[in-house]
Amino acid sequence: MLAANKQWANDIKEADPQYFIRAAQEQKPELLWVGCADSRVGPDQLIGLPMGSIFVHRNIGNIFATNDLNSLAVLEYAIDELQVPNVMVCGHYGCGGVHAALTHSGIQPVDLWLDQIRFIYQRHEPELARLNEQQRWDRLAELNVEAQVHNICRNTVVREAWKRGQEVNVIGLIYDIHDGRLKQLGLEFRSQAEWQARYGEGRQ
Ligand SMILES: [Zn+2]
Repeated sequence: MLAANKQWANDIKEADPQYFIRAAQEQKPELLWVGCADSRVGPDQLIGLPMGSIFVHRNIGNIFATNDLNSLAVLEYAIDELQVPNVMVCGHYGCGGVHAALTHSGIQPVDLWLDQIRFIYQRHEPELARLNEQQRWDRLAELNVEAQVHNICRNTVVREAWKRGQEVNVIGLIYDIHDGRLKQLGLEFRSQAEWQARYGEGRQ
């Protein structure tokens, strides 16, 4: 890995001698990525953006937890300091975290973390109970993206940014590990008004 890193750094310097001088001065990412820690879902490669373009937050199950200081600090820093105009929640089919939430529970740290996805299952149980196992797994991954988009849209940092007219586009997508494609879920909100038009005032 050290050898590969040396080669990579040399290649970059050869192609663009000023690259590391510029990179050391500042970051100006265009996207906050909230994604799963799964090793098959690395944001830089799958949307083809160069290093320096994406501010990244990843955890098991791509959860934006409203009681997690890490998630909250990342969002605050991305919006208030870096002025990132796009926040993308990206779930994925075949997610082990979603599968674990569907199939067992317990008191280990990973179980407690995934309780947040179990709660989403409970809220949508009538719809999910009608599906077969594979469909249920896929659909819960989509509903999880939607829930995390909502957690972001109702966050004070985002609401305040929208109120002062700052550009913040919150998007939910799902990545298909079977064909490498990102799929839209009809989740895209650029203002408080857009979010409320879809879900109403009462949505929490
Ligand atoms: Zn996953």
